[in-house]
Amino acid sequence: MNKEEQLSELKKKINQNSKNFPGKNLVFSDGSYLSEVMIIGEAPGEMEDKMKIPFVGRAGKLLDKMLSSINLSRNDCYITNVVNFRPEENKKPTFDEIIIFKPLLFKHIEIIMPKKILLLGATAAQAVLDHEGPLYVVRGNWKKITINKNYFNVLTTFHPAYLLRQPNAKKIVRKDLLNFKKNFF
Ligand code: URA
Repeated sequence: MNKEEQLSELKKKINQNSKNFPGKNLVFSDGSYLSEVMIIGEAPGEMEDKMKIPFVGRAGKLLDKMLSSINLSRNDCYITNVVNFRPEENKKPTFDEIIIFKPLLFKHIEIIMPKKILLLGATAAQAVLDHEGPLYVVRGNWKKITINKNYFNVLTTFHPAYLLRQPNAKKIVRKDLLNFKKNFF
């Protein structure tokens, strides 16, 4: 199967969880599946659910700015979330939801085969790095994960929604983004 076919199979598998998110749309991904840069957020919000595209609301606009600060556009990246449906009342995904979506996310990573992965926020760090607890413990540090004998380089930074609430953290994110850019290849 080529990448497109594999992604379409994965989409069908993810959609089998739609019954747990009544009335919500599947928000699968945006950007280019040929990209070597994968960006992983938490879960869609209201706008994302409506448009069926990740990161199109306020946090998404900030993500676009973050990317352009290191000369990347959305189409230079492949963007997805840990949970592909909008959680009830916009809540943070539960531990059980993360457990359900984790193998699907790992399959997603394996299909895209990115050289670099940028994790945005605690939910992504929990799903991908098994990190629970404060984000500052893992943010800014390159980690390697292995999925079926393939290695992936992963960097974690703050979620843009957090930056909207805590603009002081922008300096730290700027540093992380430069680190992410510097280590591209
Ligand atoms: N926050 C996320 O984590 N993902 C989105 O797609 C939008 C906001």
